[in-house]
Order: sequence, then C-alpha cells, then structure tokens
Amino acid sequence: MNERTWSGTHTFRASKIVYPRSTAEAAQLLRSEQAEGRRVRGLGTRHSFNDIADNDGTLISLIDIPASPELVDSGDAVKVAAGTRYGELATWLEAHGRALRNMGSLPHISIAGAISTGTHGSGDENGILATSVRRITWLDADGEERSIARGDESFAGMLVGLGAYGLITEVVLDIEPTYLVRQDVYRGISWDTLLFSLNDITASAHSVSIFTMWDEPTVEQVWVKKRVAADDHTDEEWFGGQRERVPAALVGSSENLTEHGIAGPWLDRIPHFRVDSAPSHGDEIQTEYFVSRPDAAAAVAAVRELGAQLAPLLHVSELRTVAADEIWLSPAYKQAVLGIHFTWRNDLAGVHAVLPAVESALAPYRPRPHWGKVHLIPADGVTAAWDRLPEARALYEALDPSGSFSNDYLERLGLRGTR
Ligand SMILES: Cc1cc2nc3c(=O)[nH]c(=O)nc-3n(C[C@H](O)[C@H](O)[C@H](O)COP(=O)(O)OP(=O)(O)OC[C@H]3O[C@@H](n4cnc5c(N)ncnc54)[C@H](O)[C@@H]3O)c2cc1C
Repeated sequence: MNERTWSGTHTFRASKIVYPRSTAEAAQLLRSEQAEGRRVRGLGTRHSFNDIADNDGTLISLIDIPASPELVDSGDAVKVAAGTRYGELATWLEAHGRALRNMGSLPHISIAGAISTGTHGSGDENGILATSVRRITWLDADGEERSIARGDESFAGMLVGLGAYGLITEVVLDIEPTYLVRQDVYRGISWDTLLFSLNDITASAHSVSIFTMWDEPTVEQVWVKKRVAADDHTDEEWFGGQRERVPAALVGSSENLTEHGIAGPWLDRIPHFRVDSAPSHGDEIQTEYFVSRPDAAAAVAAVRELGAQLAPLLHVSELRTVAADEIWLSPAYKQAVLGIHFTWRNDLAGVHAVLPAVESALAPYRPRPHWGKVHLIPADGVTAAWDRLPEARALYEALDPSGSFSNDYLERLGLRGTR
C-alpha cells in the first residue's frame, strides 16, 4: 500500500484501508479483523499531518457511509453519520433553515476525525467543534454498538478521543437557526496595536483570524467574521487598519476562499476555504500550539522574535481564540486559549530544524500541541500540559483492553499503554 495523508506528509504503514458502506458492514469488518488478530483504527478524510490515524493493521474509513442527517430533539439537534464531511452536513442544515455554531477553516474534514483531534475554528465564545456533540455512538473492537451522551460519566473523556477506543459511527450535534455572517479583511494594523488590544480585537466578532508572516511591518491580514441581521454597515477603518476591497489571497490564491465584503450564509463565511474547491495550498505541513489567554500577547511576542527564521519556511501563520471547555484532552481544557498556527512550506527537515526554537520560545507558557499536526513535544511535555491525560489513558484501556485501537502515536505520547 502506498497511501498517504491529504498533504502527503505521512505515508501510512497500515496494510490496508477499507471503506465499509454501512455500520453493519463496519461491525462485521471489526469482528473479522479481531478474529485475525489485526489492529484496527478509524480514518477520516486524512487531513491530519502526522501518524495519528495510522497503525500496522487495518484502517477503516466511514466516509462512504451515507450521511443520513435527521433533525432530532425537537429540531435543535442533528443526528448524522460520523464519517460525513462538515461541508455536506452544513449544506443540508442550511437547506433546512439550521446552522452549526462554528466550523474549522475547511469544510472538507470528517466530523469524526475533527472531533477526535480537538479541531477548532475561532471565536472567544466558540468552543472546539467537539463541544457541540450531544451523543456519540461507536463500535468497539468486537463490533458491538455502544453509545454515550452529554452528562454521562466519562463523556468528556471520549469527545477528543484520538481514535483511541473505537470506531465512531454516528453523532448528535447541537444546531441553531440559520444566520448570516459578514466577513471583512483588514490590513495595516500595527503590531503594537495587535499586542496591546489583542483581547479587544478577538472579542469584536463571532470569529476573528489574525494572519501573519511574523516579519512584516504591520500585521498581514485580520479576518473578522460578524454575525449580522442584514448586510448593512461595516467599519472601513478598524484598530488602525483599513478594510481590504479586493479578494484577499492566502497561501498564494484567492480562488478557494470564502467571500468577504458582503454578508452571506454562515457556511459560506465561517470556513476560510470554500466547500466546492480544494482547500489551502496542499503542498504544506501544519503545526499549532495553544497557550492560555492571559499569556497570549507575551507568547505571540516571543514567537515574533523568531520572525526572520520562520518567514522563509512559512506559507502563513494564523492566530485564533477558543473558549474554555471541560473536555479532558481538549486544547482548551479548563482554559480559554489562543492557537498559534503555522502553515509551513513542505520542507519537513526545515520544519523539524525550526520547531525546537518555536517550542523553546513557547515553553514558559506551557503550550499544548494540536493532536493532528506536526510538533516535537515528547510524552512528558504532553502529560504536563493535560492534567486529565492519565484518566483518559485509563478510560481507553478499559474500553479497549486488547489494544485493538492503539497505535505507535498513542503509545509514544503515553495515551495508551505500550504493548
Ligand atoms: C487544509 C487544512 C486545514 C485545517 N484547518 C484546521 C482548522 O481550522 N482547525 C483545526 O483545529 N484543525 C485544522 N486542520 C487539521 C484537521 O482538522 C484535523 O487534523 C482533523 O483531525 C482532520 O479530520 P480528518 O477527518 O481528516 O481525520 P483524520 O486525519 O483522518 O484522523 C484524525 C484522527 O481521528 C480518528 N478518526 C477518524 N475517523 C474516526 C472514526 N470514525 N472513529 C474514531 N476515530 C476516528 C483517527 O483515528 C485519527 O486519530 C486542518 C487540516 C488541513 C489539511
């Protein structure tokens, strides 16, 4: 097999990838792999950048199971197959007058993969995507269907579950009535203003993304996504920056980006990348660290000191905020955070060479790495960053005692016991 992740930065070691077309087929497959003594693992749309989704056995992707969305709980929640891409669900919800509270930068990822890695968008009041999950249904290693709901013991340990305990087949998500968002792009905001007014800037809209190359004289671009009643007024000048009127380009192109300067449905404004085009650059590697909000400005200033080293390796960096939650392995567990993200050029050796400097600049702020992106923080650093990690590991061991869903990544970082 010569299958790779979406960006091509990791080649899977697994011996096969299987795409069941129903939950019953997936359950049967789990039973037969169990009988053969092969390890199994859920695979989503392969948008992670490391070996988190890999193993030495069989990868099972549920992306071909029909989405079958259904309004439930008096219409304020949706039940949907877990392998569904957010874009497909969002399109269905909009057609039914409903919406998600938030999305990541791209609508192409699967729901199961996104919630399993703590995927997030931006917004002081917006939690990671997993915070909208009401119920998870999964198959264990014997192919038995199991379910857990918000409020049940251990639910918070299973939301960002890293694929460590089973194959998630269905989720129920919170939804709300559809809404409009106006996205505006500002340039020319000074670094002093950004660092001094960081909290005011991120609090000013539903979702704010700050893009930087770290070495530019004024902040490259700030994307401001406001929920609006209608397409009326917007500020031409904002925190000393000017509104951009031409389509903004990120990582080289504007073709694949959602529109700015005019209000539109939530699903066509909250993600940066359009559902009907290829996202981002493709030839890239991603890294992200989360620091607590009180440390945010100091952490950004510390990374900026490395600007001259970082810029030649970067497509772009992005700063986003995430609300605190109670999910054990969430990047925002018990603290509101700023995500400091890097979309690197596809130069793994160069990235590995610069990451120690980035991680050492951020070390005083106890950074939490994004589970699905490239970082060098070892097991003891990861354990120090998440108080509940030992409990999460115990939970996964109890749910999957044979280690069928374990892999090198989980064992290397202390998230599963070594076998
Ligand atoms: C262009 C681009 C933009 C991105 N933007 C963002 C962003 O805005 N915010 C952000 O936080 N991240 C972002 N990411 C990272 C991405 O959201 C995560 O890596 C996410 O996990 C990808 O989902 P996936 O479906 O591709 O999962 P995969 O990479 O296929 O798998 C990820 C994990 O989920 C598990 N998994 C998948 N399916 C199942 C299942 N059915 N049951 C159990 N476990 C399962 C796997 O075992 C693995 O552990 C981006 C990535 C790319 C390539």
